Parts: sequence; structure tokens; C-alpha cells
Amino acid sequence: MEVFSPIQQVTLPTQHQIWVKRDDLIDPYISGNKWRKLKYILATAIQTKRTHLVTFGGAYSNHLVATAAAAARHHLTATAFVRGEEVENEMLLLCRLFGMELRFVDRDCYRDKRSLFSKHFGDHGSAYFIDEGGASEQAVEGCREIITELPMHFDHIFCAAGTGTTAAGLLREINAQKLQSKLHVIPVLKGAAFIEKEIAAYEKNIDQLVLHLDYHFGGYAKTNPELISYIKGFTAATGILIDPVYTAKMCYAIKDLFEKGLLKKEEKVLAIHTGGLLGLLGMREKFAGGKA
Ligand SMILES: *Cc1c(COP(=O)(O)O)cnc(C)c1O
Repeated sequence: MEVFSPIQQVTLPTQHQIWVKRDDLIDPYISGNKWRKLKYILATAIQTKRTHLVTFGGAYSNHLVATAAAAARHHLTATAFVRGEEVENEMLLLCRLFGMELRFVDRDCYRDKRSLFSKHFGDHGSAYFIDEGGASEQAVEGCREIITELPMHFDHIFCAAGTGTTAAGLLREINAQKLQSKLHVIPVLKGAAFIEKEIAAYEKNIDQLVLHLDYHFGGYAKTNPELISYIKGFTAATGILIDPVYTAKMCYAIKDLFEKGLLKKEEKVLAIHTGGLLGLLGMREKFAGGKA
């Protein structure tokens, strides 16, 4: 499958120049790193003649929408176990439109995904287990390809992280090519030091990894007025949308590291736009009113 993910040079509102790898343009629904992560998972499912994808996520999960859309495109059916009480929102609407069956499960049941799968689909030979967020060795292999597509050297490569699977893929290919690029990872969860171990479980050599633990803005999906105003300024100045949960925290980190002198004007900086823009749809109130 051809992938459309150009590299675009942009000038930040602070006058710093960076490059952006536009994985958000790959597909509006199978977006960004979720497309990368699903690529080999889907290939395996299809190869092994599975016709039903079973996966897991929260009610605002980009992964659920991506899996729902991917299933529909490949004439597969899909079920998602959704964490927590039954709700309706923009993301789940898209899942339903793509034909995904949604089963809401309480947090206790949700924790043991493998047993949920075997209980409900264990004797369906056609069902294929996909972990939350697509986290898997195959996802790591898919994310490596972001690095193989780069046309030039970058001193610093940035990505946002939830599980760290995407970061592990980037790091694996940086190591395989013996690149001198530093991989800067911005976890969007609070207290995410654990992510170093998660990454190392996929890719032992973490010499090129730089973790930034202080750009979570209070935790997963948390924002503050400064981040919201940064998003407005960034988008107005570049024409590129970023989302409050992941990519905005990464872009803010880049801006902050330039301002602190930890990134230098003459260094080449690449931000990986991992997509996730549909999440903006549920956030009208956050952006209402105020000045840019
Ligand atoms: C899911 C997601 C991430 C996190 O990816 P991990 O591989 O879990 O670290 C980053 N950015 C966006 C936009 C996402 O949707």
C-alpha cells in the first residue's frame, strides 16, 4: 500500500524552523501512528484468514476508530470492548458507522483483555485479538518505516507517547541504520517513567532515547489555558492541526526546549505528527471563546 506522508518545513510562532512528518495525512480515520501500527497486524489477520477483529480501548480512542475503518476497508467485521459505562460520543459514532460492534465493560473486567477475548471469542476461529492501541511487536515493525521514509538527516526526532510502542519502532530503525539522531519522547501521561522499560522491552539499546517527563500538562487528556492557547497559535501560524491529547504536548515541548536553549537554531528538528485529530471533535468547550 502506498503511504502519503510528506515532510513539511514550518516556521513556529517563535520563528524556529522545524520539519513535520505528516503521518496525519495518511488517512483521516486510520490516522497517523494507528495506520502504522495496524499495517502488519492487518496483514497477519488477513493471511491467517481471520475475518473478525476484536480490540479494546477507551471511549475516545483513536485506535478504535482506526480499527473500525480498517476493518470496513478490508471487508472484515470488528468488535471493540470499550472501557467504562455506556456512553455516546463523536468517536464511537464513527466506530458504529464503520460497522464496529461496541461492548461496554466495567474497568475490572476490562483489565484482563485476554480472558475477555477467550470468554467471548475463544471458540471463534475467525476472531483476531488486537491489544489496546494496537500495542504489539508488529506495531513496532510498522512504526520503523517512518524512519526509513526520511529523505535527510535530522539531529532531533520528536514523538508523543502513550504506550511507547511507536517510539520503540522509531528507535529500532534509528539503531538499525546507526543514525546519530536523538529520539525525544514526550509521554502524555503523568509519572510515565515506566515508559523507558516499555520501550526497552522492544528495543534494548536506548542510547539515542531522550525522555521528557514534564510535558504531560497534568496527565492523560488534561490541558490548561496555556496549552489551548498554544494550539490556537500553532495552528493559525502553520495551517497544521494538532490535538490536545498527544501532538500539542510534543509541539509545546519542542518550543520550550528551543526557548531554554536545549535545542539550537542550526540543528535539524523533526516532529512526527502521529495524527489523532478526530479527538478535537469532542473538545468544543475547551476552545470556545477567548483570544488566539
Ligand atoms: C495513540 C497515539 C499516540 C501514542 O502512541 P503509542 O504508540 O501508544 O505511544 C500518539 N499520538 C497519537 C495522535 C495517537 O493517537
